[in-house]
Amino acid sequence: MKILVPVKRVIDYNIKARVKADGSGVDLANVKMSINPFDEIAIEEAVRLKEAGIATEVLAVSCGIAACQETLRSAMAIGADRGILVETDAELQPLAVAKLLKALCDREQPQLVLCGKQAIDDDANQTGQMLAALAGWPQATFASKVVIADGEATVTREIDGGLETLRIGLPAVISADLRLNEPRYATLPNIMKAKKKPLDTVKPADLGVDVTPRLSTLKVSEPPKRGAGVKVADAAELMNKLRNEAKVI
Ligand code: AMP
Repeated sequence: MKILVPVKRVIDYNIKARVKADGSGVDLANVKMSINPFDEIAIEEAVRLKEAGIATEVLAVSCGIAACQETLRSAMAIGADRGILVETDAELQPLAVAKLLKALCDREQPQLVLCGKQAIDDDANQTGQMLAALAGWPQATFASKVVIADGEATVTREIDGGLETLRIGLPAVISADLRLNEPRYATLPNIMKAKKKPLDTVKPADLGVDVTPRLSTLKVSEPPKRGAGVKVADAAELMNKLRNEAKVI
């Protein structure tokens, strides 16, 4: 079974994002970029399925600028077998990425696409769902446990009221939530080995996909600053404030 894992290059989660002075977006100049944390979890899960003898190949795919090669190398250092970069300088929105992934699924015929539940830059939480719709495949989002057996996936998902377990046929799209696993640290030998793994580059036009953005950003601004807190003398004062002053904002 081949597993395709889409990995996005995003601003590192430790970095405090700065908005560009003209409000047109987030300033990415000289900012550390990393693999999207949920995609790292997805790669880890795919590699564990390979180590368990369930998957035969783990293919990492990244869509974006040439520097996304680093993201693919990170995925390969965790254990992905090879990578495909869909290279473009265009701004990619979730629908365009879903179309690119659909075209690659047609070409690569994976039995499972294991993506992150959301990218921490746009927080869109759309790409996996759109891919499932375009491919006509079942989907299970926000997975905290995945068991593959007999051509089916049993997926435990985190929902508002607790946990839900779904059984879906393959091929399918599953998106990884935070508690699915704890990704391993890439060791130096594995980082070195990853440099030699195959990495192909294709362009959106090679896949017959038009990636022209459908949405335009009107304005990006900083969230309002939080006001200072107050210290209370004792529990009674706290209760009083909670009862009489606290309000939902
Ligand atoms: P989003 O819908 O943008 O929140 O992204 C959800 C998931 O789709 C991510 O966790 C990735 O697995 C995948 N994805 C989104 N954008 C890209 C991209 N440019 N390249 C590769 N994978 C992506």
